[in-house]
Amino acid sequence: GATIGILGGGQLGRMLSVAASRLGFKTVIFEPGGDCPASHVAHQHIQADYTDEDALRRFAGIVDVITYEFENIPTAALDVLERARPVRPDRRALKVSQDRLLEKSFLSDLGLMTAPFAAVDDPEDMAEAIAEIGIPAILKTRRFGYDGKGQARIMSPTDAEQALADMAGQPAIYEGFVEFSHEVSVIAARNQAGDVACYDPGENVHEGGILRTTTVPARLTAAQRTDAVLLAAKILNSLKYVGVMGVELFVTPKGLIVNEIAPRVHNSGHWTQAGCAIDQFEQHIRAVAGWPLGDGTRYADVVMENLIGDDMDRVPALARASGVSLHLYGKAEVKPGRKMGHANKIVSKG
Ligand code: ATP
Ligand code: MG
Ligand code: MG
Repeated sequence: GATIGILGGGQLGRMLSVAASRLGFKTVIFEPGGDCPASHVAHQHIQADYTDEDALRRFAGIVDVITYEFENIPTAALDVLERARPVRPDRRALKVSQDRLLEKSFLSDLGLMTAPFAAVDDPEDMAEAIAEIGIPAILKTRRFGYDGKGQARIMSPTDAEQALADMAGQPAIYEGFVEFSHEVSVIAARNQAGDVACYDPGENVHEGGILRTTTVPARLTAAQRTDAVLLAAKILNSLKYVGVMGVELFVTPKGLIVNEIAPRVHNSGHWTQAGCAIDQFEQHIRAVAGWPLGDGTRYADVVMENLIGDDMDRVPALARASGVSLHLYGKAEVKPGRKMGHANKIVSKG
């Protein structure tokens, strides 16, 4: 049987590994950390740094195809891996999703709506961005941000000054504040044959910058639902993408505004484990392994709730609740803000 290499040993890598196993694949995790969620379930764990080219080559040498659970793969590591084995999704998707400025430019060049944005590296850029885009706004680091980290809300010129100082010289992007009614995401997949399949959009609620719940169905009109799925397909096709992608959207009276894309399985797609015959993890494995895409039809209404930090205290009660399936990531230490697991609750039959 074939072996799938996965870069990153967190919960997404763990669930990808389980899905791969179910289809008869072996998995090898590449992850610098030791006791990581994916290493508990994978067939092999290569524990090394992304700067260790020998380890990268060793990893590539024992797998047939390489995928990843996070988008910040260092370019030099990617160069080494790509020479040895196919990396799916490929570097086009990584390039645009690693840098919020390239990402927003790519999306608006596709004709999709984004928040108004401008690159901000210094006080002059900041003054121009404020004059052009206005306040309120959000200043974000161009790279490495997640769970709302590296972001500052700007309500006044004083905030702007402080936010720029806090960036400590990191390149940033200034985004006009989007007045959305709610947030949704589309989990979309494309395989090597070019088939595209999108899951029903989910409605996302964030708390303190971290995803709290995803509910399906989302509150969307039929026209909005069609728009969401078509724009996601447009993004995947334009990148000749292979794998699963998460596309985050703001719902506004003027239409759907694309916030960001994630070239991987996505937290807001965890509901598919309870709502669909083929969940996002198996769908991703199918795509990168050259299989046909599976049936992504939604067969149930589901609420996915992240178990963050002390939410773990609720596990005994959730374990007794009807319609609830638990997914715990096996992380040794509970920390505030740390994603420890999630619960999928089937609300009704779809
Ligand atoms: P993730 O964990 O989803 O990767 P992230 O750190 O990459 O998050 P974003 O998704 O860009 O950050 O922003 C986090 C949240 O902040 C969004 O889900 C949304 O609620 C809010 N937000 C971000 N950008 C804007 C904007 N331009 N206007 C209004 N709200 C925004
Ligand atoms: Mg993000
Ligand atoms: Mg986001």
